[in-house]
Amino acid sequence: MKPLLIGGEWVTTSHGMKNVNPSDIGDVIDIYAQAGRAETQTAIEAASQAATAWGMSNLQQRHDILHRIGVEILSRKEELGALLAREEGKTLQEGIGEVMRAAQIFLYFASEALRQKGDVFASTRSGIGIEITREPVGVVGIIAPWNFPIAIPAWKIAPALCYGNTVVFKPAELVPGCAWALADILHRSGLPKGVFNLVIGPGSVVGQAILDDPRVNAISFTGSQSTGARVANASVPFLRRIQLEMGGKNPLVVLDDADLDVAVECAVDGSFFSTGQRCTASSRLIVTEGIHARFVSGVVDRLATLRVGHALDKATDIGPVVDANQLSQDLDYIAIARSQGGHLRFGGELVRRETEGHFLAPALIVETSPDMRINREEVFGPVASVIRVKDYDAALHVANDTEFGLSAGICTTSLKHAVDFKRKAQAGMVMVNVPTAGVDYHVPFGGRKASSYGPREQGTYASEFFSVVKTSYTSA
Ligand code: NAD
Repeated sequence: MKPLLIGGEWVTTSHGMKNVNPSDIGDVIDIYAQAGRAETQTAIEAASQAATAWGMSNLQQRHDILHRIGVEILSRKEELGALLAREEGKTLQEGIGEVMRAAQIFLYFASEALRQKGDVFASTRSGIGIEITREPVGVVGIIAPWNFPIAIPAWKIAPALCYGNTVVFKPAELVPGCAWALADILHRSGLPKGVFNLVIGPGSVVGQAILDDPRVNAISFTGSQSTGARVANASVPFLRRIQLEMGGKNPLVVLDDADLDVAVECAVDGSFFSTGQRCTASSRLIVTEGIHARFVSGVVDRLATLRVGHALDKATDIGPVVDANQLSQDLDYIAIARSQGGHLRFGGELVRRETEGHFLAPALIVETSPDMRINREEVFGPVASVIRVKDYDAALHVANDTEFGLSAGICTTSLKHAVDFKRKAQAGMVMVNVPTAGVDYHVPFGGRKASSYGPREQGTYASEFFSVVKTSYTSA
């Protein structure tokens, strides 16, 4: 049984949970010790005890540790990518890509550790100087989802440590394997005891214990809207700093003047790669009348070339859905869309393979309208719907007609429409002729409306959440 990491020690518990491969439910990857409330509180205490010294630690030390972590992740990309594919169901290629991303993030924040900077202002009063500096927040609780089991933890843990915070990390129940492998690397990286702690277990127990504890100074959360609201409500009484990244219902607008090949590729990649289980997935394809028929045929033809199968099979383009619950949610939404008048134009059926896994053919639903549930609620699977619209103005209106605002895309060769869409799309990230999913790691990531709350993640913008500002006045 793989243990927890608390206060620099590996800790076993009496209760363990199986980690099951969604491509082959008979394949148990390992068993992981489950923390309870008590272990979580011990981890928070360890992080509190370590906070002052780590907050004052030498920047070269921080750089070297983060660099060491990034180098080890990169050197083990095939092995860790295979573990990721085995426990989450991304294809091997996608798994390796995500592991490389995690490594790049640690290497990026290794450099950022050396660039902690502030501002100097002249005072309005004579003889006084003003300095603006940044300091650590303290103990940061990190609560992560299952769909990016190593990249999301990396983009929260790396900046937290870079800016001198200590961490209590709670991964999602379905993906303890990547979390444990990452914790093992961090444990051997030279971090002082208690600076990084791993507590695996149910959200209702371990996550809740993090929310309930006033010693946790900040929480960075990624997951569903309902859990995000819980994090917010639990944090208000403590006036705790929070960062919430939640769901999406991301539009991809395709205009008559789009390059058809580009539009089809953006739609197929954005909607179905990583089995559509990306918060930035293009789940609403909003298409103008003149290109609608050609676009739909193009997407169907491309989908027909893709193979759904075991994540570790090199021939697989789309891996399994993550578990039976998510699969049943995907199937329910396909049925709801059809019952409300949508036509299933491709896929949507279970696929049988040699191993017993949660395989679903990517589903394309056409003739849908903006008010249908399929266009209002996040499915989080390989399911996309097409909305036919008259022109660009109608497309923009439909694109913004959602409670979410994470990513929004447009495929067009018109500079006028591209510029207008960049300005008017109500989303944190806007993509022109590139898929709505797939981002760089050195620039801000996040959304608006119900998709996000709090400062942006990633790049130098991460410092806004992971550090606090101090203004000092000095008279010599
Ligand atoms: P989830 O909300 O079910 O779980 C997220 C995390 O919260 C897990 O670690 C879970 O154990 C924990 N949790 C559950 N109950 C809790 C509680 N009472 N207190 C504290 N923690 C608790 O989400 P999920 O199913 O793991 O992930 C899918 C969701 O994540 C989708 O909505 C997706 O859009 C979203 N997501 C968003 C982004 C983004 O950056 N915007 C990125 C990836 C995923």
